[in-house]
Amino acid sequence: MESILVLTHADEAGSSLTKASLEAITAGRQLSARLDAPMTIGIVAVDPMPLSKGLPSAVAAVSGEAFSQPRYATDAAACEALCRAANPSLVLAPAGSRFARVMAGVAHRLGGVIDTHIASIGGQASVEASRWLYRQRIEAVITRAARPWFLLLDPGNHAAFAADPAAPHAIIEQIHVDLPAPRTTVTGIETPRQDALTIRSEAKLLFVAGAGWTKKQPDGQIHVEQAGELILGFLRESGASLGSSKSLVDQGGDGNSVLPFLTHMNQVGQTGSTPRHPKGLATCCHGEEPHVVGWRFIAERRAISLDPNCGWTRGKADVVYIADAFQVMAKVNELLAAK
Ligand SMILES: Cc1cc2nc3c(=O)[nH]c(=O)nc-3n(C[C@H](O)[C@H](O)[C@H](O)COP(=O)(O)OP(=O)(O)OC[C@H]3O[C@@H](n4cnc5c(N)ncnc54)[C@H](O)[C@@H]3O)c2cc1C
Repeated sequence: MESILVLTHADEAGSSLTKASLEAITAGRQLSARLDAPMTIGIVAVDPMPLSKGLPSAVAAVSGEAFSQPRYATDAAACEALCRAANPSLVLAPAGSRFARVMAGVAHRLGGVIDTHIASIGGQASVEASRWLYRQRIEAVITRAARPWFLLLDPGNHAAFAADPAAPHAIIEQIHVDLPAPRTTVTGIETPRQDALTIRSEAKLLFVAGAGWTKKQPDGQIHVEQAGELILGFLRESGASLGSSKSLVDQGGDGNSVLPFLTHMNQVGQTGSTPRHPKGLATCCHGEEPHVVGWRFIAERRAISLDPNCGWTRGKADVVYIADAFQVMAKVNELLAAK
């Protein structure tokens, strides 16, 4: 019979479990119900007590100041200790940066096996883990006889577990960890300025900039500086995430004018990313298939293009505005600022 351990950790403030951890709990609950298998939630946190409110299973935790910061040695030791205490056959963990880097090592210490980028767990009486390969073109369904089997779950595929606010705190089994002598001291975190951070995976809207922003406009001139101001202004006002077409991000290498805040990380499409946002707005982008294929998880699509024959008008978008994006976005920013 299978037994399940869901590994979770606190967010940076230490006041709640991360969203990806809560998603892993949902995946664990579903699997536990389907297999009729016992489940334990393992918590890595300075103080797990406030995080345990309403958790739907047995809870084991490691606690202490050593776990306030992500660090390979302490996180791996914590996860190893939780696994040895719960002795599960299946371990589910969220694939955030904190656990993604330690979990293969933990699986090795336990003599187990690991699969990463898991999107869903199916099967009847068996466990069938699905993941995408080759940029979401091939879906692989994996079964394994080896145990313990670690499954690192990609975030965004399960609803986050929401505890009943009236539920009591779970009883926590405290697990002792023998920590190695620390060789790494975390002195602080440096993050880019908020407005420099253009890729926001949690944003409700994906705003895509295409190469048209840097092309000659009806007045015969290019207006890259104005384009940059309009795009950054919209991101600031709306909190949208910034995507780009390949043609636009490639321009940097051609020695042309380019928007300095764009990198290949922003590229959406066949050779770029396939972000998941409820809504998307493409601007100055032609909507060619190698680009639009990266929009397959965007639920509602709109585009602003000067070209009435662009790919978006050919069934790729729900709404297309045949208009000058410079004018439209200036007006939109004005309205947003007034709000
Ligand atoms: C193997 C392969 C892989 C590829 N992978 C990707 C990928 O991952 N992602 C990707 O994006 N592309 C990819 N491409 C490239 C793709 O085919 C297109 O060339 C690219 O998406 C075009 O970018 P664009 O629409 O921004 O530029 P363009 O084709 O130059 O279109 C610019 C558009 O802007 C409009 N425009 C100009 N000014 C304005 C204005 N003021 N207001 C409104 N509209 C305006 C124009 O009418 C035009 O429609 C790939 C191609 C190949 C062959």
